[in-house]
Amino acid sequence: MTARLLEGRPVAEAIWRDVEPRAAEFSDRAGRPPCLGLVSGTDAVAAAYGRQIERQFTRHGLSVTSRTASAANMLEVIDWLSHDDTVDGVMLLTPFPQGVDAEHAVLAIDPAKDVDGQHPTNLGRLVQRRPRFAPATTLGGLRLLQHYAIPLRGARAVVVGRSPVVGLPLALLLIDADATVSVCHSRSHDLAAITREADILCVAVGRPHLVGPEHVKRGSVVLDFGTNPGPDGTLLGDVDTDAVESLVGAITPVPGGTGPTTVAVLAEQTVRAAELRVARARG
Ligand code: NAP
Repeated sequence: MTARLLEGRPVAEAIWRDVEPRAAEFSDRAGRPPCLGLVSGTDAVAAAYGRQIERQFTRHGLSVTSRTASAANMLEVIDWLSHDDTVDGVMLLTPFPQGVDAEHAVLAIDPAKDVDGQHPTNLGRLVQRRPRFAPATTLGGLRLLQHYAIPLRGARAVVVGRSPVVGLPLALLLIDADATVSVCHSRSHDLAAITREADILCVAVGRPHLVGPEHVKRGSVVLDFGTNPGPDGTLLGDVDTDAVESLVGAITPVPGGTGPTTVAVLAEQTVRAAELRVARARG
């Protein structure tokens, strides 16, 4: 058996097909496109990611306002964007400049504009099964499973990683989608025994090729969120794809799997934030 490759690009394209007409309709009504406020420090990789977001947003009828902040004015910049009526979403690009308190920075985002789902209010809503905005990468993972019609209801899912950015919100989204979910982390005993129970195995750890043949159930679906620098500028996943692909039923490639959906989901949530703001303003 050779695993089916779950490519992210077709998923992203389907999301953009939904987002584009909604962005156009909002522009017609509001006289401006839905707008994402991006805040970054001086990190070159974050700046490049910001430019990538801006290119894709602009191509599909949304706009981006970029602000560079220092440790001294970071909270002021976030607060300013949170109160700017021409900005619908706010996203913080990491790493933050040295001296910025990450918790304070996230708390400064208006939860109604928190389109990358980082604010405790939005994470709390996931816990309450009343999701509004979820971290874009994790919602992208869910969209990917839905796009490829992977059955979720009653499925046994295992998430490896419990960060508030990927692992934990992903587990909550899967629970909300009626999967039965276990979460593993660095203190879990006998990781392989747990992951081998998974119909759907999601790995968000940040350790190249941590997951090998001994960790997977035959025929299972594997989502690899890992983006680890490999030799010669290559990107390695958390899963050793070559070693498991004869065992599993389907797997996301790295690169090209979970990654490409992230910006499209960010746009989807920015349009939704814009639509909700207009609806609220109308009462
Ligand atoms: P993180 O904050 O470092 O969290 C890593 C998680 O993995 C922690 O919960 C940690 O457990 C767990 N872990 C570490 N070693 C482990 C082991 N040997 N066995 C089991 N669990 C282990 O990382 P993150 O921000 O969630 O990112 C995870 C990966 O996703 C990274 O490769 C990152 O680059 C990638 N990522 C991808 C995207 C995308 O668009 N595809 C977006 C964001 C992040 P403890 O909690 O016990 O420490």
